[in-house]
Amino acid sequence: MSNAEIGLIGLGTMGAALALNIADNGFDIAVWNRTAATTKAFHNDAGELAARITPTETLEQLVAAIAKPRAIILMVPAGAAVDEQIAALRPLLDDDDLIIDAGNANFHDTNRRAQEAGDKPFLGIGVSGGEEGARFGPSIMGGGQRQHWDRVAHILTAIAADYDGTACATWMGQEGAGHFVKAVHNGIEYADMQMIAETYGIMRDGLGLDHGKIAAIFAAWDKGPLQSYLIEISGKVAAATDPQTDAPMLDVIVDAAGQKGTGRWTAIEAQHLAAPIPAIEAAVVARNLSSQRDLRAAGETLFGTGPHHMPHDTLSIETLEGALIAGKILCYAQGFGMIAKASAQFGWALPLPEIAKVWRAGCIIRSAMLDDMADALAADPDGNLMHAPAFATLLKERHGQLRQVVAQAALHGIALPALSSGLAYFDAMRTARGTANMIQGQRDFFGAHGFARVDGGEGHHGPWGS
Ligand code: NDP
Repeated sequence: MSNAEIGLIGLGTMGAALALNIADNGFDIAVWNRTAATTKAFHNDAGELAARITPTETLEQLVAAIAKPRAIILMVPAGAAVDEQIAALRPLLDDDDLIIDAGNANFHDTNRRAQEAGDKPFLGIGVSGGEEGARFGPSIMGGGQRQHWDRVAHILTAIAADYDGTACATWMGQEGAGHFVKAVHNGIEYADMQMIAETYGIMRDGLGLDHGKIAAIFAAWDKGPLQSYLIEISGKVAAATDPQTDAPMLDVIVDAAGQKGTGRWTAIEAQHLAAPIPAIEAAVVARNLSSQRDLRAAGETLFGTGPHHMPHDTLSIETLEGALIAGKILCYAQGFGMIAKASAQFGWALPLPEIAKVWRAGCIIRSAMLDDMADALAADPDGNLMHAPAFATLLKERHGQLRQVVAQAALHGIALPALSSGLAYFDAMRTARGTANMIQGQRDFFGAHGFARVDGGEGHHGPWGS
């Protein structure tokens, strides 16, 4: 039977959830997985949705099961697996059949694949929200030719998260635009998570709070300006107990953060674009550093830790909350600034307000603040979020609290890489006369690179003393 409206390859965590979501929204879907037993088990476990799912054992069967012109989603690991699947699939397809890579591809790979596809339809879409999002409503960032997106937009918007009646699925632009936006999303996610972990560190090590109190503080923050999925789950993580030991779960988890690379891609791309995203870069560095456990332990033996413990009136919980609010705004300002820079450089016309809107639900960084960011970016798409009136007001109110937290942490030997990078960004970005005049002087001294004078003209040189 060739009546499925769409096909899907790769029934792992994300693919299986996405396939069920598609079926649940009333679309017939054909599925194929490299390991056939997984396909069988998936279909057997699909309950009443099984009627909408056609399991297939070969790629030929998969292709035959889909109505023409076909659309097939790939949900396999990013990299070689995607190229292998495209190579295996293309000879079986008609020229107007659409391949959609929905994994976490590097956007450079998506650019290449779009070019290799030529006239044959290809989309690269970023899907965020983890397994739960994929099953019940992810945030979807599409890239490729608009006409190809339009062919499947009815399915993608139906399965996406919904925010006040607006689907969180948007076409971002040509080629790798969707995967680029997804990568920056993940970079912001790294920084958001890192800043939360840093405030957790102050509560645990600086203020000596137990995990029950920390959980209650996150739960309270989740009712205020910081309301977000990441704050919500941080409270739940802090509240959890290890069934084996009855200790807080956080006490039994090794302090080395994993990563699959998308945050690193964002940091690397930011360097190529000369886009300043120090809080995001600091978060990537913090994950790298967290894995150096032996070296950190040796450092503690050699140098000792800082005093860590703060007298109880050093920092209030309200001050910590304000610091996190300011840090979060600065991190998002950096992420959106990078997207704006890429948009200009790659000629993509990336829709910044739409990006904020698509992140309001379904994805890991969903938060109340993103709704206000969407409004601010709609009012001034070319402006820095820091300058948008609502966020400028918040920063004026809160940067002093961020400063207090960073200063006290420094005095007590507690590392806050992302929050302190955010603060340095804020201070640098409100300093009209910086110190790069010294850099220019040094460059001209040793390399005759020339400098611009404040009273006019480029390409000036010394004189310098010997
Ligand atoms: P899983 O490891 O759970 O599943 C991978 C799937 O791909 C399996 O079905 C596997 O088949 C198949 N596969 C692996 N290698 C190949 C290959 N060489 N050729 C064909 N099929 C292959 O991964 P996820 O579902 O977690 O991730 C899939 C994609 O989604 C990745 O790009 C990931 O980065 C992205 N993603 C993941 C998120 C998450 O939270 N997990 C969130 C957002 C995006 P088999 O059963 O035979 O091994």
